Amino acid sequence: MSASCCGTTASLELEQIATSGATGALPVVVIGAGPVGLAAAAHLAERGQDFLVLEAGEQVAASVARWGHVRVFSPWKFNIDAAAKRLLEADGWSEPDPEWLPTGAELITDYLAPLAKLFGDKVRLHAKVTAISRLGYDRVRTNGREEVPFLIRLDGGAELRARAIIDASGTYVTPNVLGASGLPAYGESIVEIDHALPDVLGADRDTYEGKHTLVVGAGHSAATTLLALAQLENTPITWAIRAGGAGRTYGGGAADALPARGALGTRLRAHVESGRIRLLTGFFVHSVARSGNQVTVVSRDPSGAEQSVTVDRIVAATGYRPDHSIASELRLDLDPILGSTRRLALLIDPNQHSCGTVPAHGVDELSHPEPGYYAVGVKSYGRAPTFLMATGYEQVRSVVAAIAGDWEAARDVQLDLPETGVCSSNLAEAQEQRVGLATGVSGGLLATPLPLATVGASNDGGGCCG
Ligand SMILES: Cc1cc2nc3c(=O)[nH]c(=O)nc-3n(C[C@H](O)[C@H](O)[C@H](O)COP(=O)(O)OP(=O)(O)OC[C@H]3O[C@@H](n4cnc5c(N)ncnc54)[C@H](O)[C@@H]3O)c2cc1C
Repeated sequence: MSASCCGTTASLELEQIATSGATGALPVVVIGAGPVGLAAAAHLAERGQDFLVLEAGEQVAASVARWGHVRVFSPWKFNIDAAAKRLLEADGWSEPDPEWLPTGAELITDYLAPLAKLFGDKVRLHAKVTAISRLGYDRVRTNGREEVPFLIRLDGGAELRARAIIDASGTYVTPNVLGASGLPAYGESIVEIDHALPDVLGADRDTYEGKHTLVVGAGHSAATTLLALAQLENTPITWAIRAGGAGRTYGGGAADALPARGALGTRLRAHVESGRIRLLTGFFVHSVARSGNQVTVVSRDPSGAEQSVTVDRIVAATGYRPDHSIASELRLDLDPILGSTRRLALLIDPNQHSCGTVPAHGVDELSHPEPGYYAVGVKSYGRAPTFLMATGYEQVRSVVAAIAGDWEAARDVQLDLPETGVCSSNLAEAQEQRVGLATGVSGGLLATPLPLATVGASNDGGGCCG
């Protein structure tokens, strides 16, 4: 069967792959063929573990493809998993320039697609997981629970079994809402709202040129979109943030510990000060409603004071949240704030950590009360916006070692990153090339920690990758 099969035939084949036999003979199922899911597959392949990768999209790394026009901050040398590199090189692949900052599209064509090809039909496309449980066990039943396989239900009704699950399904398809209190704004589901990071200067140009656009959010996704919009003529731009000022987004300018962030912030500040971008502060989105061909967005702040703006388009750049609903019949121990495991939450709390200060971690921090289920990659961080691919690669190295029974390797967690270099400083250059700006990893692995007070203070869903 080809990797692009879908529909009933593919579903039946999937059922046949894993519906019988002892739990130990079943494959490890990886959910999601993004950078971290495919890295998990590489480690499973190296350790001779049977596996199957289920990808909802019509191509591998379907979420990365949605931001394919964006150039990331971290150079190739931090974006390639070690096991994946070994497998690819054995197949004759040449590593891209380690210092180059790839776009999302380049991540796929130069790395992830060739990697997935190595695994043949062990990577299944159009295979969206809708639910996971234990065969014959709901969440309450205990006796013998650990002995039975996982049951995985797919969109379309097929079911298959697994001896362990590595859930690398990401957060990109579950963005945060526009509403300021974490609840959807009134009317949010009935007006058209654009996802973060539209390709303003490329494929989506006609959508935005000449249209008054409201960008909501204080992270780097918002900043990137605003700077791209500012290059379009006759295109009014309004930027709305909850905070009382945009200092956090601007960063420290030329004095910023992170030159990339400084370059982004300096340009943005200049556009706001010149009036090219109209900034609305203290803007707490309460409702959105159509008014003719436009949309009126109303803010109601905690004191009840209202302000509003009427625009043609809205871009919501308010961050992402994990969707744990597919695992609701499993026993998860989730941190009440972030939605990561509780042990991991202590290490990644954005009130205390930037990307650069998150320590290496692995199977122990990622384990739930449900043995054999691990959420990894950006999903493992829940709502913390500080995830790095390199961190996810170490997560899956550790988790796969544990699944293979090599607990010594599983617990020997390391992040081999230098103090500088994960976040390149040539953001401004990338911007000049008009190839898109990274939103990710503003924190980077720099020696100087981010100013933590500003990260936590406004809680605007920004941070490294917001
Ligand atoms: C614009 C942007 C720039 C970034 N820049 C950097 C950077 O410079 N450096 C860095 O280290 N990190 C960066 N990040 C952060 C992070 O590394 C990436 O988001 C990365 O793609 C996360 O990889 P992942 O495999 O965990 O998840 P994803 O890439 O989101 O992959 C998840 C996959 O799971 C699939 N899926 C989802 N639900 C299901 C389901 N129910 N069933 C089956 N499949 C499913 C999706 O289609 C997708 O292919 C950036 C993020 C963004 C958004």
